[in-house]
Amino acid sequence: MDNSSLSPILTVPVTIRDFPMPSYPVVIMGAGPAGLTAAYELAKGGVASITLEAENIVGGLAQTATYKGYRFDIGGHRFFTKVSAVEQLWKEILPNDMLARSRMSRIFYNGKFFAYPLKPFNALMGLGLIETFRCVASYGWARLFPRKPENDFATWISNRFGNRLFSIFFKTYTEKVWGIPCSEIQAEWAAQRIKGLSLFTAVKNALIGETAKRKDDVVKTLIDEFLYPRLGPGMMWERATELIAERGGSVVLNAPVTRINWEVGRVVSVEAGGTLHSGEHFISSIAIRDLIESLSPAPPENVLAAARKLKYRDFLTVALMLRGTNLFPDNWIYIHDSSVAMGRVQNFGNWSPEMVPDPETSCLGLEYFCTEGDDIWDAPDHELVERGKREIGQLGLANSDDVFDGAVVRMKKAYPVYDGAYSAALAEVREFLNCLPNLQLTGRNGMHRYNNQDHSMLTAMLAARNILGGHYDLWQVNVDQEYHEEGKQITLEEIRQMEATQPRVPRRVDE
Ligand SMILES: Cc1cc2nc3c(=O)[nH]c(=O)nc-3n(C[C@H](O)[C@H](O)[C@H](O)COP(=O)(O)OP(=O)(O)OC[C@H]3O[C@@H](n4cnc5c(N)ncnc54)[C@H](O)[C@@H]3O)c2cc1C
Repeated sequence: MDNSSLSPILTVPVTIRDFPMPSYPVVIMGAGPAGLTAAYELAKGGVASITLEAENIVGGLAQTATYKGYRFDIGGHRFFTKVSAVEQLWKEILPNDMLARSRMSRIFYNGKFFAYPLKPFNALMGLGLIETFRCVASYGWARLFPRKPENDFATWISNRFGNRLFSIFFKTYTEKVWGIPCSEIQAEWAAQRIKGLSLFTAVKNALIGETAKRKDDVVKTLIDEFLYPRLGPGMMWERATELIAERGGSVVLNAPVTRINWEVGRVVSVEAGGTLHSGEHFISSIAIRDLIESLSPAPPENVLAAARKLKYRDFLTVALMLRGTNLFPDNWIYIHDSSVAMGRVQNFGNWSPEMVPDPETSCLGLEYFCTEGDDIWDAPDHELVERGKREIGQLGLANSDDVFDGAVVRMKKAYPVYDGAYSAALAEVREFLNCLPNLQLTGRNGMHRYNNQDHSMLTAMLAARNILGGHYDLWQVNVDQEYHEEGKQITLEEIRQMEATQPRVPRRVDE
């Protein structure tokens, strides 16, 4: 991430010591939610650890960047979980700073707002008479002459909503996020996400009312309320870092792991920022590809080749500071217009007023889904800020002239990609790593799992408990185990519900 223009927000003095460094029993790679959860749980269990972080800030993807007192997320981060142990941990770390927020997010298209998730009746009402007529005609056509086979996202949605509604409400945003045409995305993804929603049921519900059950079905995928630290998600991880330090752990910033020394049967030490750290146990939350490429001696060629097949999608935020407030009431807005490249806009003052230092101003986070090396990723910061100003004005969401400053945060490997190669590649890497039982993989890129914080944290909690004497399979976390500790337990039902709230990832048709 290039955040050189941004000031680090870590408030705790971090330990950066010269070689030789004392050996900690546990060495943790990455100070995102997973790494810091592991360190925190270990500290509570009386085990000291050292956490090595490449960047100058903790929190990973869930960090909060600061720029001239303005605070913003790397994509707004809601805190919600079905796992009580995770929620308990949030409240333990920040007992007095979690705000309960109601979610407000809508779709913006052609100068108008639409409900999200989509309510077809609301959508039709908002489109105006002529467009509504076109949509209804296109819907009728699709019902009379559905396209077969129905293997891809575009066909699946068009058959249920008509091609016109598909183009307006599904195509543009999906293609912005994933960077692949909807005709190349498997239909299964649509079926999972749009359970029970069809134009016919929506119109029927609008006319004769929704039954409680139907309402329950429709909102299944929604989280209407969430918790949010008053200074953004980074506050959680900054405070966790302080608590870890108070209990004897150490978090070292600017310490990218570059070499992982191993011998048959175990990892021996890790080199980060020019310093060697030995330990008994190792926990990684860094990207699997980087982990494997750092192994010394190098693993067998097939393992290296497998790790290199793991791919990622990147992400950048253009934060704009504007004069004026009350631009729109949403936490965030999905941008469905194809005339602009931004995919979403966050309004950070609506997440927490304390994200904005001057109450006469606003801070918007314009989100661009991109790939390292593409035109957006490579554009200089000042061009991106100019682009952001132009796009926000063009959409009419704010006046470009009110923008008085801006900053850019790039985030590599924001999304692990599930393509045709990833599953076999991951299996191959995991098989090799079985020979290193003192190394546990946790977290999002650490396990190549497109997840929310709670899932990352749960895998890290279980990794810590394994070191404290447990026997948990982190890869089976969603499937078939219950977890007990000090009277607290994580039940199968909680895990099932957590799984239902994790984001779903599209796969390509030919995979
Ligand atoms: C746009 C966006 C929006 C999101 N919204 C939400 C949300 O609303 N709610 C939610 O719960 N989750 C959300 N998430 C997901 C959440 O951010 C992740 O689940 C979580 O941050 C994963 O934590 P982690 O510790 O596994 O990984 P990360 O957050 O990726 O942390 C990994 C850490 O390892 C460090 N690292 C990497 N390589 C090295 C190395 N070689 N040496 C040392 N350190 C290294 C990184 O710098 C980073 O700090 C969102 C994610 C994105 C991208």
